[in-house]
Amino acid sequence: MISEKMKRLAENNSVIRAMFEEGQQMAKEFGAENVYDFSLGNPSVPAPAAVNEAICDILREEDSLAVHGYMSNVGYEDVRQTVAENLNRRFGTAFTSGNIIMTVGAAGGLNVILKTLLNPGDEVLTFAPYFTEYGNYVMNYDGTLIVVSPNTETFQPNLKEFREKITPKTKAVIVNNPNNPTGVVYSHETCLKMAEILREKQKEFGTSIYLISDEPYRELAYDGVEVPYLTKYYENTVVGYSWSKSLSLPGERIGYLVIPSELDDFELIYSAAGIATRVSGFVNAPSLLQKVVARCIDEKTDVAAYDRNREDLYNGLLDCGFQCIKPQGAFYLFVKAPRLDEKEFVQRAKKYHILLVPGSSFACPGYVRIAYCVSHDTIMNSLPHFKALAAEYGLN
Ligand code: PLP
Repeated sequence: MISEKMKRLAENNSVIRAMFEEGQQMAKEFGAENVYDFSLGNPSVPAPAAVNEAICDILREEDSLAVHGYMSNVGYEDVRQTVAENLNRRFGTAFTSGNIIMTVGAAGGLNVILKTLLNPGDEVLTFAPYFTEYGNYVMNYDGTLIVVSPNTETFQPNLKEFREKITPKTKAVIVNNPNNPTGVVYSHETCLKMAEILREKQKEFGTSIYLISDEPYRELAYDGVEVPYLTKYYENTVVGYSWSKSLSLPGERIGYLVIPSELDDFELIYSAAGIATRVSGFVNAPSLLQKVVARCIDEKTDVAAYDRNREDLYNGLLDCGFQCIKPQGAFYLFVKAPRLDEKEFVQRAKKYHILLVPGSSFACPGYVRIAYCVSHDTIMNSLPHFKALAAEYGLN
């Protein structure tokens, strides 16, 4: 018999699986070009050509035993130094290789830092709507996820409730900026206030509260918006980054954690996180990909392609009569369901071959998420179907 924890996970998983299979089935039945599958956050822009070139060059140029061998659990020293210098150039920080741990994507990094920090019963705060996996990651280490309810006016964090929910058991706070599922970028003011509250609460309780900034969408920001770099706001910040979206490499599983020297118990945490990487079974981040991202550190994805999808879908949806906040980052739109029950809306959308994710999957019912990381043709071809769907609700 499987464990109680896995039983719960398996039950949830069947819902996501059912959705995936439904999409596949619809594509078979109606033709993939007639199905508007907005359910998955899989990049639609191919990785830059430089990535494939780097893979070939490394295999040709470097010593095979070194490229494919075991290494330090925290990753290649030169790769970590390249990452640190890139961050220092961009954000005016002062990191070294000793502040970086290469990880198996953002998911790997989050698990490593949560394993490093949490005792059973420790609380981890996050803001709704949030990436569903946070609950599972916190559960992996027997922590308790405490959810701050959404501020549906702006989808900036609800800081009043945040302050109230911090307790002596609060060990960490996870923020995701730019945000999945809303596409909102937390503002400079929000980050300043959040840091102030955290400092005040650390002082009040005599504890260390670690802010974990989950940033797989950092490079996907539009309209010149600045995404605040949180280590500059709050000393106890750990940043989790990934190239899954920024270089379209989600299957390759490569990212890093930044563990700044200012962190309370920095040395203990950095060395324990290296051990957490090993004992979690990752051992180290994929070696070839570490070398690839170091060579491609200044490469960029085609943000303009996502931006074009964002503009056309956002304007198209407003034209249909739907309501939603204009996203400034990531590749998601969070649309208000015309009636409170967003699951009914998701079901109805399927009649038009439109696949959406209900907001309740992100602890924010009444909304649906549209992942616009699809071809531009899919966006344009879906609009008449959105229009017909909106008409059912009398929106146009
Ligand atoms: N965090 C958020 C907010 C995400 O949306 C995702 C993936 O969609 C992840 C983490 C996991 O990213 P990775 O593929 O790098 O593990």
